[in-house]
Amino acid sequence: LKSPYSGGHLEVVVGPMFSGKSEELIRRVNRSVIARQRAVVFKPAIDTRYHATRVASHSGQSAEAVAVAGTVDARAYLSGEGGLFGLPTDLPDVVAFDEAQFFDEGLVPLALELADQGVRVILAGLDLDFRGEPFGVMPELLSRAESVEKLTAICVVCGAPATRTQRLIGGQPAHFDDPVVLVGAQEAYEARCRVHHEVRR
Ligand code: ADP
Repeated sequence: LKSPYSGGHLEVVVGPMFSGKSEELIRRVNRSVIARQRAVVFKPAIDTRYHATRVASHSGQSAEAVAVAGTVDARAYLSGEGGLFGLPTDLPDVVAFDEAQFFDEGLVPLALELADQGVRVILAGLDLDFRGEPFGVMPELLSRAESVEKLTAICVVCGAPATRTQRLIGGQPAHFDDPVVLVGAQEAYEARCRVHHEVRR
């Protein structure tokens, strides 16, 4: 008797900046390619509908990716409008999303539909924003995933495992209410532990 199990599922990889989320996504995707599976990696783009690009880790590894403005475009790409996959039934074996926290709410239903159709879905992203608050669609993805990996970086202040992303504006900790995008500001991000993560109120 053939098992109805399709193998489709959600894998989520989270942690602060510099924790190796992109490294881990690239490692998983490269292993699937070695296993002769077809993998598509999406990452968020600000402007264009979709274009070929790469995902890169801070340590220099990279993999081919498709930049999309949102999940509507990722969906369109997968259903053949990107020219790579002819039919909706002709889905890749693996679909990965890097920087998943920047995707719109449509990411949850898309990931679930893909998994239901037998696709291994890998989602890497920040679990917390610079204020230490749950980031966008990540909480729901974490709840619905079959597998969750929380990575840590190294706190730049004390060397402890870092679970937070410190945002600095002009060298000073950002305020809770600072907008996520600050035009013209001198910004930096660091990995920090709970004790050394600072948010000005
Ligand atoms: P993420 O996708 O989580 O931002 P990356 O995979 O891009 O992380 O990069 C992880 C790499 O960043 C590490 O392997 C290491 O070489 C480098 N790195 C730089 N700063 C730190 C830090 N404070 N803690 C850990 N790794 C760091």
